Amino acid sequence: MKIYNTISKNEEEFKPLKNNHVGFYTCGPTVYFYAHIGNMRNYIISDLLERVLLKNKYDVKHVMNLTDVGHNIGDGDLGEDKIRDEAKKEHKTPEQIIEFYSSAFFEDTDKLNILKPDVISRASENIKQIIEFIKKLDEKGYLYKTKTGVYFDTSKFKEYGKLSGSNFKKLNEQQIGGARVERPEGIKNITDFAVWRFSKPDEKDMVWDTPFGKGFPGWHIECSAIANEYLGQQVDIHYGGHDHIQVHHTNEIAQSEALFEKQFVKYWVHVEFLTVDGKKMSKSTRNIYTINDLEKRGFNPLSFRFMTISVHYRKMMNFTFEGLKHSDEALKSIYAFISKISVPNEKTGKISKEFSKTIEDYKKLFFELVSDEVNIPNAIIKMHEMINYSKKDLNKEETSLVLNTLIEFDEILGLDFKRYLSNKLSKAALELIKERELSRKEKDFESSDKLREKLLKEFSIKIEDTKEGSIWYKV
Ligand SMILES: [Zn+2]
Repeated sequence: MKIYNTISKNEEEFKPLKNNHVGFYTCGPTVYFYAHIGNMRNYIISDLLERVLLKNKYDVKHVMNLTDVGHNIGDGDLGEDKIRDEAKKEHKTPEQIIEFYSSAFFEDTDKLNILKPDVISRASENIKQIIEFIKKLDEKGYLYKTKTGVYFDTSKFKEYGKLSGSNFKKLNEQQIGGARVERPEGIKNITDFAVWRFSKPDEKDMVWDTPFGKGFPGWHIECSAIANEYLGQQVDIHYGGHDHIQVHHTNEIAQSEALFEKQFVKYWVHVEFLTVDGKKMSKSTRNIYTINDLEKRGFNPLSFRFMTISVHYRKMMNFTFEGLKHSDEALKSIYAFISKISVPNEKTGKISKEFSKTIEDYKKLFFELVSDEVNIPNAIIKMHEMINYSKKDLNKEETSLVLNTLIEFDEILGLDFKRYLSNKLSKAALELIKERELSRKEKDFESSDKLREKLLKEFSIKIEDTKEGSIWYKV
């Protein structure tokens, strides 16, 4: 299996640190609002990566944090805490905000068929570990106090900035040269960041008493501490958005490597941005969409998943509703194919040598592609080719070979192919479906509509007509 490593800027052969075991860390969401489709691209890709690792028979431990404290609105440790700010706006407590938006997040990930990580851990559940981490960093002389918090002195970590191919000096000069240098009072270097923030006297929720003062953790320290708690001092794969390279992940490396004096992460994997109609998503351009917004417009969330996985994760993805419509149609045509060929086939016979070899070749190619830098887009092209090749009069055995192969592909793609299998439906329901197909062919739309209603009412089977024929599934 091959993987692109941000730190080496190379595609590398994947080899875990220890035997077959893979420690996999994903930076989770800050649960202060609904996640948008750009966030969801991140988690769909992280899911693909996990599925590819599992398919390659690695023993994966996937850990994801939930940021419920310590993520400030502005870059560079400025501004209010995002969750506290939203709580004020909605006249709720921070806990209510966290509860509400984390369940909204997992509802979305379920709709997108994203596997749940093995460990999901909140920052606030790891305060003890975070304090321990900070204490040890302090003993090693990496920290200093200001009026507002405890800061990491980035000048003391020799390799600061290596993830983005930069260094301490360059990063500090770059930012000094920038138009706006807004940094907290009393810090020594522009790149220094808070590992602990002191709370204001009126802040009562989500604050903890510690030897270095009352307050709450900074954002970066939570990932270092949680990764250490569940995966140890070294992690095989650390995954996150491209926008985290220069600050968040750079600071994670500084903390973890300063403390443990060994390589923190073997492979850094980053997903590129998502734009909407060619523009960055922002409140001012009103182009922020959530999964719920797509559903309101009648789209299956899995059509968005299909659209996302059809673009390589290291490329920018441009979302448009036109594009989503294309993906929706393409996905439905696959569902229609599955619905159609999985109707129990009376025709028995042998699988011809040529047919079985061709399907085997497609299968081999598909899995080679997904294991080569998660090249799902090209693997999907191969799947389409296989489907087209199989659009002929197949016998029972050939049909099941094609279906089994598609179901196996879906272990990676996560598009719910099994839902559209007709051979799971009762005989009576299938008879009605066939009858309806016939009335449609004869353009007897009145009967066909009646049969559609009957199927829904009596069998909870929904029928949708697409360009490629009808699809049916249990609701
Ligand atoms: Zn993180």
